[in-house]
Order: sequence, then structure tokens, then C-alpha cells
Amino acid sequence: MTPDTEVAIIGAGLSGLALAQSLRTEGRNVVLLEARDRPGGRVLSQDGYDLGPAWIWPHNRRMLALADRLGLQLFAQHSDGKLVFEDAHGSVRRDLDFATMGGALRVVGGLSMVTDALARDLGDILHLGRLVQQVIEEPGGVTVTGQEFTLRAERVVVALPPRLTVGLGLSVPDVPTWMAGHAKLVAVFDSPFWRNQGLNGDAISHRGPLAEIHDASPMDATEGAMFGFAMPGAARDPEFRSRAMDQLARLFGPEAATPRHVFIKDWSTDPATSVQADQTPPAAHPRYRAIRPTQKVIFAGTETALVEGGFLEGALEAAETAREQLLKDYASF
Ligand SMILES: Cc1cc2nc3c(=O)[nH]c(=O)nc-3n(C[C@H](O)[C@H](O)[C@H](O)COP(=O)(O)OP(=O)(O)OC[C@H]3O[C@@H](n4cnc5c(N)ncnc54)[C@H](O)[C@@H]3O)c2cc1C
Repeated sequence: MTPDTEVAIIGAGLSGLALAQSLRTEGRNVVLLEARDRPGGRVLSQDGYDLGPAWIWPHNRRMLALADRLGLQLFAQHSDGKLVFEDAHGSVRRDLDFATMGGALRVVGGLSMVTDALARDLGDILHLGRLVQQVIEEPGGVTVTGQEFTLRAERVVVALPPRLTVGLGLSVPDVPTWMAGHAKLVAVFDSPFWRNQGLNGDAISHRGPLAEIHDASPMDATEGAMFGFAMPGAARDPEFRSRAMDQLARLFGPEAATPRHVFIKDWSTDPATSVQADQTPPAAHPRYRAIRPTQKVIFAGTETALVEGGFLEGALEAAETAREQLLKDYASF
């Protein structure tokens, strides 16, 4: 077998993108294969609004360093004002001095600024629209196949949620994909009017369909936005959008029922992120562990990160671990 490349990375989420970039800097010959027609994976921003992750926390040193290296501006999650609480019977109180995500940071323009910048830098190393269907380890390397393509590599890095990896014919433990069972709704308004009412935009609701709501306005507040995580399965209800608008009005007043624009992203029905088992999200944050590499196949992706598994920081942690493993392998040749 004559390999086409030294390393093939499967999956251009944050983990695969970061790994591809660092290996290329080491002078390695890399190909990055991505099923979707866009890079970023669970990182997805539309018109600057985050439909996937939104927050970086102050202890996320890799994410902070990456944003700094890319010249991106960060700002604090809005947290001034009171939180709204709705109980299961619809009783609402607006007097709670609490901000559930106070201290978290957001990226000006949305988190896709990070993944888009990494992707741009990779140029023709990144191949979009390449759904990998099988990975076969052979004596001379690894054969990666999909519809209408075959690639031979010396080493393969699988930068996918483990539950998607199973479909490629590789044996990995069954661990839930973080946030894969969730859906997010973003409502955009002319201004963050709730701030004038002394509210911080946070809400917790036991009635739904949104379980948790936060301010998602841009840094300069030239328009207002709030986003909500849907209760598990709620976004699959055909009435989801109108029920969510009724709820926003209950919590933040009539103005909240008529946003200028609404974005909805249901990750639980997206096959490039979730499988059937992810439709029931785990009750707590799972304990993620590294997946033992085989001779020529290494596993990355945030669900393989020991410390920050599940988070953006974990995607970078896993990329770092995979890079060290690969460079150790090459050094021993
Ligand atoms: C709604 C939501 C909110 C979140 N909020 C936060 C937050 O605020 N802060 C935080 O730190 N984290 C958050 N997360 C988690 C964060 O998004 C992930 O930790 C991170 O994006 C994972 O990156 P990854 O590269 O490991 O995986 P992914 O982003 O899942 O990347 C995997 C890539 O592989 C591709 N792929 C899948 N199958 C194949 C195949 N067969 N062939 C080729 N390519 C394939 C996918 O299209 C995808 O691009 C959130 C996630 C969601 C969904």
C-alpha cells in the first residue's frame, strides 16, 4: 500500500481543525475530511449568533490563547440585573439576584469566528462534503473510504464523537456526545429591552418549552437577542416555535413575543452530531476518558479529553494529546 498522506484526520470540528493546523506547523503531510459542507461541527454561528456553544470560561487557557492568537475580541456574558424564574405551574418571579453564567466570555461575531479562521488557514488540506464510512487498518497503513473516495494514510485520527465512530467499523466505548440531545432557539429584537426592566436576560423555567434562557445580544447591544435551550425533545414538537414565543412573553413581557428573527437549531436530529441514543441527554456531565489508540488509529474529539471533556477546551485538549501521540510515533521510526 502506498499512502496518499501521512495523516488523515476525520472530522473538522474544533478538535480536528486545531490538530490539522498544529501538525501542518510541524511540517506533516495532513488531509482533513469533513462530512458537512462547512467546518466547525458543533460550533455554528449565524449572523453572529451562536446556535451551538457560546461560552468560554476564564479557566479555558487553550481557548483563550487560541482566540488571542487569532486576534479575536472577547466580551463578558451580560449578567447585570435579575433572573426570572418560572415554576412548573407557570408562576413567575423576577426578583432573583443571580446570573447563572456570570463570568463567562463570548466571542465578538460568534464562535464560528474561531473555526472559520482555522479552516481558512488550512486551505486545500480541508475537504468538505466527505462523509467517511469506513476505516480499515492494514499492514501498510489505513484505508479511509466514503462515497466515491478512498484515501490511504500512514496514520488516521478520528476527531468525532465516539458514538459516530462506531459507524466507521471501529470499536470504541459508548459515551454520550455532550449537548447532542439539545436544541437552541435564538430570538433577535431591535434592542435588549429586558435590560431596561432590570432583568439580565437569564431565566430558568420548569414549564418550558425553553428550560434555560440567556442574553445573547452582541457586545455593542446594537440589537438585542436572547437564546434558550429547549427541554429535551421539545424542539421536535411542530408547535415549538409558537410555544417558545408564548413563553418569552410570559417571562419578559409582550414585546418578547415578536422577535425580528428566530433561529432554531435542533442538534438531536442532526446525524453529523447525534445518534438515536443522544435524544435522551445524560442527567449529569459524563466522565470522559481517552480512547486507547490502535497501532495506526488515534482518537481525538472533546469526548476523549480527560480534564475538559465535552467542552470546547476539551476539543483542544484532545487535539493536543493526539498531536503528542503522533509526534512520539514519528520520533520512534
Ligand atoms: C447547543 C450546544 C451548546 C454548547 N455550549 C458550549 C459552551 O457554551 N461552551 C463549551 O465549551 N462547549 C459547549 N458545547 C460543546 C462544544 O460545542 C463541543 O465541545 C465542541 O464543539 C466539540 O468539538 P469536536 O471537534 O470535538 O466535535 P464536533 O464539533 O462534533 O466535530 C466533529 C466533526 O466531525 C464531522 N463528522 C461527523 N461524522 C463524520 C464522518 N463520518 N466523516 C467525516 N466527518 C464527520 C462533523 O460534521 C463535525 O464537523 C455546546 C454544544 C452544543 C451542541
